[in-house]
Amino acid sequence: MKILTCISLLIFLSTPLVKSQETILCKQFTTETKKAFTAKQKSINIDRKIDINYYRIELHIDAKYKYIEGKVTAYFKTTDSLNKAIFDMSNHLQIDSVFFQNRFQTSFLHTNNLVEIKLDHPLSSNTYDSIQIVYSGIPLSTGFGSFVQDSYNEQDSIIWTLSQPYGAMEWWPCQNNLYDKADSVDLIITSPLNQIAAANGLLKKIDTLNNEHRFHWKTNYPIATYLIAFTVTNYELFEENYQLNNQNLLMQHFMYPDDSINLNRSKNTTLPFLAFFDSLFGEYPFIQEKYGHASFTFGGGMEHQTLSFMGNYGGGLIAHELAHQWFGNKVTCGSWQDLWLNEGFATYLTLLTYEFGILHHPFYYDAYLKHIRQTSFSHPFQSVYRYDTSTVDTLFNHLTYQKGAASLHMLRWLTGDSAFFQGVRNYLNDSSLAYGFAKTVDLQRHLEKSSGIQLDEFFKDWVYGKGFPTYTLLWSQTNNQLEIEIQQNQSDPSVYFFNMPIPIQLKGANIDTSIILNPRFSGDQFNININEAIDSILFDPKKWILAKSDVISGLKKETNHEAKVILYPNPTKYQLNIELNYDVKIKTIQLMSINGNVISEQNYQSIIDVSHLNSGKYFINLISKEANYIYPFVRLKD
Ligand SMILES: [Zn+2]
Repeated sequence: MKILTCISLLIFLSTPLVKSQETILCKQFTTETKKAFTAKQKSINIDRKIDINYYRIELHIDAKYKYIEGKVTAYFKTTDSLNKAIFDMSNHLQIDSVFFQNRFQTSFLHTNNLVEIKLDHPLSSNTYDSIQIVYSGIPLSTGFGSFVQDSYNEQDSIIWTLSQPYGAMEWWPCQNNLYDKADSVDLIITSPLNQIAAANGLLKKIDTLNNEHRFHWKTNYPIATYLIAFTVTNYELFEENYQLNNQNLLMQHFMYPDDSINLNRSKNTTLPFLAFFDSLFGEYPFIQEKYGHASFTFGGGMEHQTLSFMGNYGGGLIAHELAHQWFGNKVTCGSWQDLWLNEGFATYLTLLTYEFGILHHPFYYDAYLKHIRQTSFSHPFQSVYRYDTSTVDTLFNHLTYQKGAASLHMLRWLTGDSAFFQGVRNYLNDSSLAYGFAKTVDLQRHLEKSSGIQLDEFFKDWVYGKGFPTYTLLWSQTNNQLEIEIQQNQSDPSVYFFNMPIPIQLKGANIDTSIILNPRFSGDQFNININEAIDSILFDPKKWILAKSDVISGLKKETNHEAKVILYPNPTKYQLNIELNYDVKIKTIQLMSINGNVISEQNYQSIIDVSHLNSGKYFINLISKEANYIYPFVRLKD
């Protein structure tokens, strides 16, 4: 998904009608919501001993009222002997009746957002059966909304659902997990005559009842619980048929009435992105059913399977939600810790539309990449892999989106275009992952196989490890000897050294060439024979690597600093910690400006307060009897 618009970070104009907004999350959570959220999160991934085959979800919805009447029948196969069936279901919904094998069940317990139904005769393992729950109530809106009753113009009412990550149980009894997809779902919604219900899959039929329509939606593709959704309002429906590789794809646009501007954006933008992703990552995963957009009252979008809900029709948002149909819907993250497999890819595919000039002008590629890097740099102490999945804030943020995308960009640099895209296609088509779930190790395995490169260290540093490196490249040239030293500091001590080959561009009056240096430790030195005079050196000119860097020429260097001194955190706001090798004895410490002027001097201490400095770049000079150890460091803004 793409999240609530609170602060617009950048706006790109590409085609005259296509505007992309990159947004960040700033939804506030009350303590109570957080508690409820944590409780729900804990109940996820508990083995219920049932494998869902099919849900029949029958709902009565009037967009004017925040209220639901429902009948959900879950068809399942037992994976073990079963005497008690458990479903996720909010305490705010009231159960009217429960049926098992067409018999009314009186013995059920509805508490802690769970329904426990004691079966009047136990089922043995590998048995097919079903349970029906009839219910009603006023659903809570948690997370990103779950179940929202709203109006899009202060007049026309709308109800929409957005269940990611833990909200499905707010409006229907379900198995909300990331290991079992329903093989098929019927979503049957009865609403007043002037309202249209849009949902996953194909609209099989519309029955007209007395004063109501009944919309019968059906999907035959496996679907994760959080991707099942509907929206109801007075939509106008526009349909088209796209030709994709000689296959027909139905495209549906569920638009607010008279919204021709957004309809045109939706119509003009979707097919070029579809064709592009299809060419890079394989056939659109739900080609037998449809792709669609439905307008809803949310600041971003949500990639419900076969039908993205759209808060606007910017090109970036359309690309992002469409990309999720491959990354998120066909292959779904196998835990919320692995959410970057959804969001990092969706963000990266949007970057690719800039790089390849698909509707977005390639001119804006650099700006979009810069945005990805800058937002990643704003989290120096956190990882792409989310150890804390307790709130939407800890999940849907710059780490899973932008830093996830930056990690994919580095994997592409490490493995090369051909192996990277082949490995990603293999990941999408792996029969154990396709239309199922994947974890970070699955992506690693496929990229290792396609590239022949061992990626343990990469994933340990850049995905599971926290922060990013800051490099300092020191160089000097004497005749035909070019000496380069590469130092590295880490923003977070969880990573000792980020391993990464670095592209370096050498420029002079008669030379402009690129080399790749692969430092093994901070302070690693390289001597290069070169006959031309070098005027300047560029560190990673195409910005493959998520790192800050400085290039300094002609500085006197001490050899092998890192073996003797470790400095962290860097960048820092408040203090620098210094760890010395046993044989180093520092007497005096100087803080120096970037021009080399001494700002202050003090006796050695292992913790140096830098909070009084203005934000910016500085040097710290550690003076021993034998040598001066000079390091750059960055004082962050408060
Ligand atoms: Zn997304």
